[in-house]
Amino acid sequence: MKRIYLDHAATTPARPEVVQAMFPYFTDSFGNPSSVYSYGAEAREAMTEAREKVANLIGSKADEIVFTGSGTEADNYAIQGIAYANQDKGKHIITTPLEHHAVLDTCHWMEKRGFDVTYLPVDKYGIIDPNDVKKAITDRTTLITIMHANNEIGTIEPIAEIGKIAKEMGVYFHSDAVQTAGHMPIDVNQLGVDLLSMSAHKLYGPKGTGALYIRKGTKIDKYLHGGEQEKNRRASTENVAGIVGFGFAAELAQQELVEEITRITALRDKLISGISQRIDDIYLTGHPTKRLPNNVNMRIDYVEGESILLNLDIEGICASSGSACTSSSLDPSHVMLALGVPHDQARSTIRFSLGRMTTEEEIKRVLDILPKIVQRLRSMSPLIKRS
Ligand SMILES: *Cc1c(COP(=O)(O)O)cnc(C)c1O
Repeated sequence: MKRIYLDHAATTPARPEVVQAMFPYFTDSFGNPSSVYSYGAEAREAMTEAREKVANLIGSKADEIVFTGSGTEADNYAIQGIAYANQDKGKHIITTPLEHHAVLDTCHWMEKRGFDVTYLPVDKYGIIDPNDVKKAITDRTTLITIMHANNEIGTIEPIAEIGKIAKEMGVYFHSDAVQTAGHMPIDVNQLGVDLLSMSAHKLYGPKGTGALYIRKGTKIDKYLHGGEQEKNRRASTENVAGIVGFGFAAELAQQELVEEITRITALRDKLISGISQRIDDIYLTGHPTKRLPNNVNMRIDYVEGESILLNLDIEGICASSGSACTSSSLDPSHVMLALGVPHDQARSTIRFSLGRMTTEEEIKRVLDILPKIVQRLRSMSPLIKRS
């Protein structure tokens, strides 16, 4: 049975040509980029090229890109780095209850260390009102951190509007763009962000490689201490092969971006309308149009998301009931709860995230199988209202 992978928000396969490009940096060109001899220079040059490609993807300058070990590290670096470097101004951070755990748990951790964190209200689609951001800012606020698009429900936040406010009020603005980098056009100047997180494995690059964009002039503390790599902004011998892979994946994503958005949005909408036509008591979660091109998140009442997943898995279809990080526990997702979805309904959600290899045939197969699974589960469900 051919597997149908529809969980690209959790991770994407590295492209074969990306893996090929990485290979020499494990073997022939294995040198440490900090070394003076030519081996070191080869690695240095490869990293310079990769840095330019990642910078191009988001409209920044190359020297504003710091490579990290993951998207999670980029988020931790941004939040802790800004909060500690600017604590003489104040200890107040503004964020949302919809953030990825990499941001949310870091904010909780900062609260335990004497920082105040404001969690902004969200509407039923998960959208933040820029006016609420403005109202939350005090003279002690040093950082606003709001994700570009949500990994579970796909909602895209009004980052550019918030960026204007942040700039006006002189507050640093970070955005977790792990779900959008390589999937939507990004220009850090148009968005008005000072910091932006990315991760290679979400855009068909290798796992364990991320980057933090840091606008020139930003006052930030180092997060990993040790050597003076990355212009003394992140200690560690660089993951040269990973960085090369990230750069190439970013370049390819940028080349294919416009075409891919059109193609995948059409498939997304076909899946949403197909499910809506075939199954009763279902609701699209997240915004209908301000939405990641590859995200489908449905609430299917009277069945548990987990049960649907297991049944889809038997048919070779990989999906998710929330984020990859929370699906191992039976707690409902914090994103659903933040939207005001009641506990039992919050556990009835299922997410399909499409990718560059997703075909129309695969969508058709899901539309054939999913209604049968839901019907079978509902016929056994104690949750269902029977008329
Ligand atoms: C995947 C993801 C992360 C974490 O990135 P890693 O590279 O896996 O650590 C952070 N934020 C969002 C929105 C994500 O989807």
